[in-house]
Amino acid sequence: MSNNPSELPILQVRNLKKYFHVSKGTLHAVDDISFDIRQGKTLGMVGESGCGKSTTGRLLVRLHESDSGSIRYDGIEVTRASSKEMKVLRTKMQMIFQDPYSSINPRHTVASIIGEPLKIYKKVRNMQEYEEKVHQLMETVGLADRLYDAYPHELDGGRRQRIGIARALALEPQFIVCDEPVSALDVSIQAQILNLLMDLQDKLKLTYLFITHDLSVVKHISDDIVIMYLGQIVEQANTEELFRHPIHPYSQALSSAIPVPRLNARKERIILKSEVVSPIDPKPGCRFAPRCNYAKPECGEADPVLREVMPGRLVACHRAEMFV
Ligand code: SF4
Repeated sequence: MSNNPSELPILQVRNLKKYFHVSKGTLHAVDDISFDIRQGKTLGMVGESGCGKSTTGRLLVRLHESDSGSIRYDGIEVTRASSKEMKVLRTKMQMIFQDPYSSINPRHTVASIIGEPLKIYKKVRNMQEYEEKVHQLMETVGLADRLYDAYPHELDGGRRQRIGIARALALEPQFIVCDEPVSALDVSIQAQILNLLMDLQDKLKLTYLFITHDLSVVKHISDDIVIMYLGQIVEQANTEELFRHPIHPYSQALSSAIPVPRLNARKERIILKSEVVSPIDPKPGCRFAPRCNYAKPECGEADPVLREVMPGRLVACHRAEMFV
C-alpha cells in the first residue's frame, strides 16, 4: 500500500451486515461487505434500487445500527463509538440526501436550515458570528445572499440541494455520504451540483461516498467504484479501469446502458433476463444467476467470493476468469 497520505484509507469497512426482519422473513439489506475509502477521494457506490447502497451509507454515519462487522473511521470504531465519541464523529461525518425537500424543514428559512447545526453544536458565540457563517456557507455553495430569508418551496430543486450541501458543510466535516444527491434533478442541474461537489472536494479536502443507481453519473466524480447487487459487492475497481473493462456480468450490463457521446458510435446494450430475485432469505449461490447470460449450474451452488482476479480488480463471480 502507498505511503502517500492521500492514498491511505480514512474509512475501512469490514464484513458489514445489516438485516431487517420483515413479515415474509429476513431481508439481507447489507450482506457481508468490505471496502476502503481513500482520504480526499470519492468512492462511487452503484447499484439498482434495493441493493443496499443507501443502507450502507446510513450505517457509516450510524443512522442505522449494524448487526455485525466493523466500520473504522480515522482510527475510531464507529459501530462501538460512545455517545461522546459519536458527538465528535457527527461533526466529521455528514450526509447529503436524495430529495433535498424531504430532508429539510419546509417551515424554516434558508438561513435557519443551514445554520441549525451551528446552534446545536455551539459552533458560534453570538448572532453576528452565526449570520456571518451562514452567509459564508451560502456563498460557498453558490446561493445568492437575497435567499437568506427565503423558504425552500420558493426555490428550484438545484437550489434546495445547495441548501442541503451548505447544511452538511456547516460543521466543517471531513467525510460526506452523498446519497443519490442528483437523482431528483434535471440533467442540466445535475452537472452543476456534481461540479460543485468536485470543487468543494478540492477546496476543503473532503472524502465522499457517492451513492447512485446510475453508473454514468459517477464516471467523472469517482476515483474508485464498488458495484452492489442484492446486498453484496460484486465488483470493486479504480473508476478508469472499471469503465475501460467491466468484468462482472452485472457491471458489463450496467456499463452497456451508458450512452456513447460520439456520433455514429455504437454500443450493444446487454438486456438482463427476468427480474431481480428477492433479498428476503436469499438462497445460497450467486444472486445474479437468474439474470446472468453466463450462468452455469455450479453458479447456484455457493456464494461467489469477492477476490482479486487481476491486480487491483476484485470480482465476485465463479467464472470471472472468462471475462478477464
Ligand atoms: Fe453469472 Fe455465474 Fe458469475 Fe454469477 S457466478 S455472475 S451466474 S457467471
